[in-house]
Amino acid sequence: MANIATITNVACTVCGCVCDDLKVTIDSGRIISAEKACHLAEAWFLRQNSIDRPIAEVHGIATDLSSALAHATSILKSSRSPLIYGLSRSTTDGQRAAVALAERLGGTIDTTAATGHAPSLMALQMVGESTCTLGEVKNRADLVIYWSSDPLETHPRHLERYSIEPEGLFLPNGRADRTLVVVDSEQTRTAAEADHFFEVDSTQNWEALTTLRSLIHDKEPTNRTLPDAVMASLRKLASLMRACKFGIVFFGSRLTREAQPHRTVEALLRLTSELNQYTRFYARRMRRLGDVAGADSVLTWQTGYPFAVNFATGYPRYNPGEFSAPAMLERGEVDAVLFVGSETTTEFPDAAIEALQRIPIIALESPSTESLVAPEVRITTAVYGVHRTGTAYRMDEVPIPLKVLLPTKYPSDSEILNDLLQRFG
Ligand code: SF4
Repeated sequence: MANIATITNVACTVCGCVCDDLKVTIDSGRIISAEKACHLAEAWFLRQNSIDRPIAEVHGIATDLSSALAHATSILKSSRSPLIYGLSRSTTDGQRAAVALAERLGGTIDTTAATGHAPSLMALQMVGESTCTLGEVKNRADLVIYWSSDPLETHPRHLERYSIEPEGLFLPNGRADRTLVVVDSEQTRTAAEADHFFEVDSTQNWEALTTLRSLIHDKEPTNRTLPDAVMASLRKLASLMRACKFGIVFFGSRLTREAQPHRTVEALLRLTSELNQYTRFYARRMRRLGDVAGADSVLTWQTGYPFAVNFATGYPRYNPGEFSAPAMLERGEVDAVLFVGSETTTEFPDAAIEALQRIPIIALESPSTESLVAPEVRITTAVYGVHRTGTAYRMDEVPIPLKVLLPTKYPSDSEILNDLLQRFG
């Protein structure tokens, strides 16, 4: 007999939007529909509980959890320089346990920001950031700019739910009350929907942002390197920025792909701060994975630093580059890795991936995640927001509670990390 249940106000952790208005219908232990889910989320929800992996594997062979934990403990005990990496598919409890374990091991902990917005975090540490929530954007933003970001591909409901489509408190006509601008190196899906698309070469974002900083103050830049067409676009953009009542720039991690990327983001953050001399203006990062913002927040709360933290001396030290996971692996400075979700390792440089093939790996993965490099120990863990409650941080750092939708046999990463922690006393 069918056993159908419907759960409302479900949060989705597939991307940093963490939309929490989904309606999920469950039949006999499987999700059969997810209303309001975008195409990325719907496929993800429908896939849950479709893969039956062993809870624990050592060298690819199923074993009991206790043996796998003992094997993982022996790897970590013999390691002189362990690395804990990932955390953006976890939640606050798992992230906190991972920090505690890194401290206990005297190892290094880094997050998926290493392959994304790490340079942005460095920039905001240098110059601060003018921030607001997505709720403020929804209610107030009459100028919305996406810079090096194509949310219709990467964050499909961002425009519909937060930035462009919704009717806001001070924007009762929704889309008609807002101006959408896209600045990018090529025409994108989002650019096709924009009122204005300004093309800037991906190697010239710093120049463009620095030029805008002059133009908004009605000053001509003295050292011009940009083509005339780009200058004309920037003049138009500067006047839109000055004229709006509430402006927001959402910038993607592609903005951090240039040389000296933290300088590019620094220029953007300075620009938005200076615009507040004339109007209200803010900048926010487009975060990719569900709880990468939570990983920043928990690491900062626990160690004082948002990523790339090392405990070898017994206290937290922060140094991007020196303690960034891909760079440490490339230099051969890691002799064991504990992944708390390894999906972004596909973006590591080749030398880092080669290094992973030479050292033991312990991987805590969701049932559907295949590791890029075969781990010595794999423990399949429950999915937060599907099998476990928890707290995920939306891209604007607003905490969103996650619900349980389905039963599972898998433990949470928090339970595994706390178990490992206890084995170290
Ligand atoms: S936009 Fe992101 S958070 Fe929202 S439903 Fe789609 S994948 Fe999930």
